[in-house]
Amino acid sequence: MNEMTGIAAQPDYSDAARIALAREPALFIDGEWTPSSHGKTIAVFDPSTGREIARIADASDADVDRAVAAARRAFDDGRWTGLPPSRRARLMEKLAALIEANLEDLAELESIDNGKPRAASLRLDIPNSAETLRYAAGWATKLSGEHIEPASYQSGSLHAYVRREPVGVCAQIVPWNFPLMMAVQKIAPALAAGCTLVLKPAEQTPLTALRLADLVAEAGFPAGVVNIVTGMGETAGDRLVRHPEVDKIAFTGSTEVGKIIARTAAETLKRVTLELGGKSPVIVLPDVDVAKTARGAAISIFANSGQVCIAGSRLFAHRDVFDSLLEAVAANASKWKVGPSLAPDTMMGPLVSDEQQARVLSYIEAGRKEGASVIAGGEAPAGANGGWYVSPTVLVDVNPDMTCVREEIFGPVLTATRFDDLDEVAKAANATTYGLAATIWTRDISAMHQLAAKLKAGMVWGNTASAADVSLPFGGFKQSGYGRESGRYGVEAYTELKTVAIAL
Ligand code: NDP
Repeated sequence: MNEMTGIAAQPDYSDAARIALAREPALFIDGEWTPSSHGKTIAVFDPSTGREIARIADASDADVDRAVAAARRAFDDGRWTGLPPSRRARLMEKLAALIEANLEDLAELESIDNGKPRAASLRLDIPNSAETLRYAAGWATKLSGEHIEPASYQSGSLHAYVRREPVGVCAQIVPWNFPLMMAVQKIAPALAAGCTLVLKPAEQTPLTALRLADLVAEAGFPAGVVNIVTGMGETAGDRLVRHPEVDKIAFTGSTEVGKIIARTAAETLKRVTLELGGKSPVIVLPDVDVAKTARGAAISIFANSGQVCIAGSRLFAHRDVFDSLLEAVAANASKWKVGPSLAPDTMMGPLVSDEQQARVLSYIEAGRKEGASVIAGGEAPAGANGGWYVSPTVLVDVNPDMTCVREEIFGPVLTATRFDDLDEVAKAANATTYGLAATIWTRDISAMHQLAAKLKAGMVWGNTASAADVSLPFGGFKQSGYGRESGRYGVEAYTELKTVAIAL
């Protein structure tokens, strides 16, 4: 059980945050702030208090059409694509510097909006956003095609080469778990490749994306290159996916919505990259340092309140180490200080919404009913001051048929199972419709590589809770999506190849 019996109150917001929350609902289209055509707005809440804190514009179809038209013009007239790549890179670097210059304000806003601890926003979300822009800016000057020697033509008779061109207008739809990071992970490679874009943040967490639009304007990007529209997925998001002038959709979110997007985008055969859900295994072999591995396993599932696509939500521990490891993980869970996002000692904030809290609690309840035993957490803590909290939770006595083992919970809930040998654990780890990430803990280098090869996951990490990096391809196998973000592959995903062959 979590030792804490009451949750602290959310500290006061800074003046900068109050100003950001009080801004008029508006959309960033063609370099200008503009109201929505029908005047409708959406409420935004602080998950640490459950209170409404701001209202944002709910983009109509007409608003989305205006944003796409602006991005289309900006692409077609070459004001971005036609710039020297080094100039594009410099603007992206300027945006990175502006993000860093606004680190404190952006971090506070992100934490108020999403519920994550301010320390996490300061350490990860905001710096990573700047880093992503800088890394992608480097690719702007390095993307190129190649010359190919044709196989069946007399040498020198056909001059053939492949051009790598920007794919065009991109619609980028992002979720609420890492709002600014996800937005920038989409924007940065698109800009590096020479694309223009319309970004739609999640309705729950739009605030840092709106501040990002301010910074895009301040950096001096040409109008229409970056457009940011707030609105609902089923309306604004859907309009973007259907729009005939959009060339590519980049989506991060649930597998359910990913499938809808893939189906809808097929009507116009748009390019689509999908970064979807996961049910990632954490595999622990018997030779590990138990205390260190328990800390790592806890971070894998409790960081960001478990609202992470790569969360290590299924723990498989070798029989020889299972009991000691689970005791250490449960003890570790009870030490995670649950609290409001702005309290300095908070390690785990609330979930993003009352809906997400109810969803996570219902999975815990389903686990109990199906026979799982709760050895840590298992409830919404008392005295929550209106916040949407769930205690760090560990479930044992689980089997592969249980809902809590099969489905993505997207909350701080770990299930744990024993295993005896490598083949058995690889099979069990792969027995899921997802294939995003996997972690292996062992000092046995041979077992590490054997297992890494057997696991059906887009990313395999060894002896660390997560090793995501701006340079490393990020994406999944199976129903965790397709395409890769980050690294060179992530930038190339915003390009088309054109073959040119000229008889000489
Ligand atoms: P969604 O997949 O619904 O939301 C992600 C984004 O897609 C949001 O911007 C949303 O808009 C938008 N969207 C929703 N429906 C459509 C549509 N028909 N067409 C275009 N865009 C759409 O995630 P939820 O917020 O509903 O979360 C539910 C579950 O999804 C979580 O419990 C978790 O399991 C999973 N999830 C996984 C994430 C990941 O990183 N893999 C991230 C977030 C959620 P809006 O919300 O503004 O309406």
